[in-house]
Amino acid sequence: MTTTHTTKIPDIYRDPAFDMACEQFRLIANYLNIDDDDRDRLLLPKRAVLVSVPIHRDDGSTSVFTGYRVQHQLTMGPTKGGTRFSTSVTMGEIAALSIWMSWKCALAGLPYGGAKGGVNCNPRELSHRELENMSRRYMQEMIPFIGPRTDVMGPDMGTNEQVMAWFMDTYSTYVGHSVNEIVTGKPVYLGGSLGRRESTGRGVAFLIERALDYLKIKPAGCTAIVQGFGNVGSIAAANLAFKSGMKIVGLSDVSGAYYNAKGIDLALVEKHQNKKGDLEGFDAADRLDPEELLIQPCDILIPAAVDRVIHGGNAGKLRCRILAEAANGPTTPEADVILDQRWDEIFVIPDILCNAGGVIVSYFEWVQDLANFFWNETEVMDKLFRIMDAAFSAVIKRAKAEKIPHRRAALAIAVDRVLKAKQTRGLFP
Ligand code: GLU
Repeated sequence: MTTTHTTKIPDIYRDPAFDMACEQFRLIANYLNIDDDDRDRLLLPKRAVLVSVPIHRDDGSTSVFTGYRVQHQLTMGPTKGGTRFSTSVTMGEIAALSIWMSWKCALAGLPYGGAKGGVNCNPRELSHRELENMSRRYMQEMIPFIGPRTDVMGPDMGTNEQVMAWFMDTYSTYVGHSVNEIVTGKPVYLGGSLGRRESTGRGVAFLIERALDYLKIKPAGCTAIVQGFGNVGSIAAANLAFKSGMKIVGLSDVSGAYYNAKGIDLALVEKHQNKKGDLEGFDAADRLDPEELLIQPCDILIPAAVDRVIHGGNAGKLRCRILAEAANGPTTPEADVILDQRWDEIFVIPDILCNAGGVIVSYFEWVQDLANFFWNETEVMDKLFRIMDAAFSAVIKRAKAEKIPHRRAALAIAVDRVLKAKQTRGLFP
């Protein structure tokens, strides 16, 4: 159904990432024939919070950062989503990411709606003490709006286990006892789950293996390029190289992009990163324009950094067999039009499926915290792969049955589930 209905978007959300989430939703709502009456409440976030985060700096001055938290929908349980510390953070970006979290959780069958939060800052420019002040103050400002049954935070770009521990500690100090289940992605000795740190990257590698198997391609000897060598990209790369025998031929981080057709030794990369903090000066590969990295020939291309890196200008030039979207929102709707035409050349593992491993193990962490009963790593991984395998099969099945691209199939399954829940419950959530 195409309709003349347009959702009135509040100006606070105006942002290219939010426009992209809206356009993806418009396309899927048309495909699913969603009634005009249901569209706005499916798309628009339930709550959006903006706070000022003042901190004392090491030099005695005071800085005020802006923090955000968007809770997209509370229909199927609490909201869930990471916290991003980055200079890219805006209300619109966080809102878009919260919408994608909703679809991701629904596709995996988790009892959550989506949320996302963040502070606009460059964490690399903050000292350890300043980062602690900012993390604690951000959490303090959010206390009235979150809770283990309302909204559960987790990690995202620029945050880590230490930040999650500060969040947990700040919330717990307020309540008067330890509330492990308020945040996931904590250190294991503070109620974190075994395997959480590696879960997103391992999930990405698992689905790549699954896709190769589906395509009847042997993993050993395949080449991969990883754009964004952070927590997710580096763990996905290590799994592909050491477990599946693939060759990592390209990678990038904030310092630039690096390419070596003969393969890049990940042990050298790790050594360099540990010494220098990033890949600046890495000389076991050639330096390349980051835009060029994405269009080098490879079997598997893994965008694992930020949104909108695959767009109308480069989608036609990609030279990969599998596009594994480890980042959130890496591919624009304009690029999708091109990739849809190239469906028999490029097998897309869409973001809400590909990077779902993180939030799935976050869900396990929350369940373990609520039960105060902890699982071993094999149990965690086994349960993770079972959920990912089922979601992959469901997406492939729907794509085949309806002759639609994988992203459309994944979104159709997810949006259908949320729609049914909303229609069955009523207008409240
Ligand atoms: N930041 C991750 C994501 O985008 C995980 C969030 C979480 O664990 O809550 O999926």
